Amino acid sequence: MSAIAKAVLPSENERPAAAEKPIVRYQKVSKTFGDVEVLKQIDLEIAPGEKVALIGPSGSGKTTLARMLMTLEKPTSGMIEVDGELLWHRKVKGKVVPANEKHLRRVRQKIGMVFQQYNLFPHMTILKNCIEAPIHVQGVPKEEAVQRATAMLERVGMGDKLDAYPSQLSGGQQQRVAIARAVVMEPKVMLFDEVTSALDPELVGEVLEVIKDLAREGRMAMMLITHEMDFAYEVADRVVFMDQGYIVEEGPPQEVLENPQTKRLQSFLRRFR
Ligand code: ADP
Repeated sequence: MSAIAKAVLPSENERPAAAEKPIVRYQKVSKTFGDVEVLKQIDLEIAPGEKVALIGPSGSGKTTLARMLMTLEKPTSGMIEVDGELLWHRKVKGKVVPANEKHLRRVRQKIGMVFQQYNLFPHMTILKNCIEAPIHVQGVPKEEAVQRATAMLERVGMGDKLDAYPSQLSGGQQQRVAIARAVVMEPKVMLFDEVTSALDPELVGEVLEVIKDLAREGRMAMMLITHEMDFAYEVADRVVFMDQGYIVEEGPPQEVLENPQTKRLQSFLRRFR
């Protein structure tokens, strides 16, 4: 964290999120690609149920930070913990050793992710897309998986399309199915990485509404990478502004978005006015 960020952050005991045991904890996490350090000693904690919006210019490291949580990238240094368990390491008799595949699989199940591209299985119906992982990864009986998936698809407004194939749906509808497919696994943390950037403007609203609806329920923590500042304002408990691999400012949306302290954030926010 930069000196600037420290100056604008409220003290630890003023932040309710810090009082609870975090569901996600990045500790001094750095990441280098080739000889470019794209994340620099990131410290970030997310409380259970907390909604954190990550904002910042393209290339500032937001996606890399999220992909690490999904075990799609490995930190060059530092530790990541999810729900009290180390992600890339595990503890054996008090010693920290590299994680094995079984450990990674188990921790990974606590996390769900939706990307910009919907990535639905094209040869499967919408319902089948949403029952595959519960049945094959979690071992949920088929009947229960169908019930759970149907309820979730109804919730995202796709209850009348259970037998449709992805290619028959609009981009917004496909993205709503992708959200249902991830949430049906009941993750503790959901990552949303620019889920509306690939959509036609008229389809953005319906997808953001689905996320807001899930956010209001409150159980899952969320990390939301977004360029939709109004959405961040509405949905997030905390906004984290990243630039050049650093967390530059963070705090409640009213503070960060309405009263930015640093020149970097002020100039970033001007682009959205
Ligand atoms: P953001 O999500 O904020 O746009 P990213 O995390 O996607 O930022 O990227 C941060 C930086 O890391 C960028 O400079 C990007 O080019 C670089 N980067 C990301 N992934 C890779 C990779 N697999 N190999 C090399 N460089 C990468």
